[in-house]
Amino acid sequence: MNKTPRKAIALFSGGLDSTLAIHLVKSQGVEVIALNIDIGFGSTKSKLEHMQNMCDQVGVELRTLDIRDQYLREILFNPKYGYGKNFNPCIDCHGNMFKIAKELMEPWGADFLISGEVVGQRPMSQRRDALDLVTGLSETDDILLRPMSAKALPPTLPEREGWVDREKLLGITGRNREVQLKLAKEIGLENFEKPGGGCLLTDENFSKKLAEFVEHDTLEVEDIALLKCGRHLRLPDGAKLVIGRHKEDNEMIEAAITPKYTKIKLLNAVGPIAAISANASELDKELAAKLTATYGKTKPEEKYEAQVGDEIFTTSPFDSKEPCQKYFIKT
Ligand code: SF4
Repeated sequence: MNKTPRKAIALFSGGLDSTLAIHLVKSQGVEVIALNIDIGFGSTKSKLEHMQNMCDQVGVELRTLDIRDQYLREILFNPKYGYGKNFNPCIDCHGNMFKIAKELMEPWGADFLISGEVVGQRPMSQRRDALDLVTGLSETDDILLRPMSAKALPPTLPEREGWVDREKLLGITGRNREVQLKLAKEIGLENFEKPGGGCLLTDENFSKKLAEFVEHDTLEVEDIALLKCGRHLRLPDGAKLVIGRHKEDNEMIEAAITPKYTKIKLLNAVGPIAAISANASELDKELAAKLTATYGKTKPEEKYEAQVGDEIFTTSPFDSKEPCQKYFIKT
């Protein structure tokens, strides 16, 4: 073994595989920096605390990088290798992440890259041929080590140079997580299940909402937060309406309102917070007020005031929620 201390950047999702991949390399005396790249489509629950906890347990530094803008401009709508089952361009997404990590190697003084990918684990991005496509896209060649599956793959530079001992790496393939769980237990890893689900681009309902959105509008980073919460409706003149389902949604909608949207709230009844396209027609605003009232604590025979931006609309809710259904975006 070459004893010169080496440094690696690990692509880190917060998941078990990437945590164990870090452990396998770190425990061989390599300094590892865990890099989490934010593409904007993580689920709503904050994962930062979880990621920090995982990094603390394996004793490495966590760094995060926000690439949401670049991802929307260059990857999401034009993936060279297409999409998975939903709106997930996983091969291009991984390729892009590794390319970015490679660019950071010099400024961060790293010698190689590692990832938690496991051959054959995911249908799209972790098939054997897909791993090669990712390596090709990112031009990472043999500086990219996949410690979880290393023994099932050709030796990479860090292995050939003796910076890491290939024999101490794993050769996992497929979806079975037995080896991972056993190793997690051995090293005493705790609370490693990720909170709040994974990437929303792999979620069927979210993907349909996103596809519908881009039929009407250009997606910008600021639009993503609103896509993650509430009931989504499209009104007859083309305005988008998002109505909160519960307190957490209402808070998220309030926080996600940008100049492209106008807030709606009921003035004399308890009800949801809603957001409507700022350029909505008067007819759409009027309907939005009625729809918002329908989801409030209201009675069809009563009149209510709904504030839509600077305007006040007097409205009554529909008799039931049934007439609202036709405006819902189909997911
Ligand atoms: S699941 Fe999401 S974050 Fe992961 S590679 Fe696919 S698109 Fe990228």
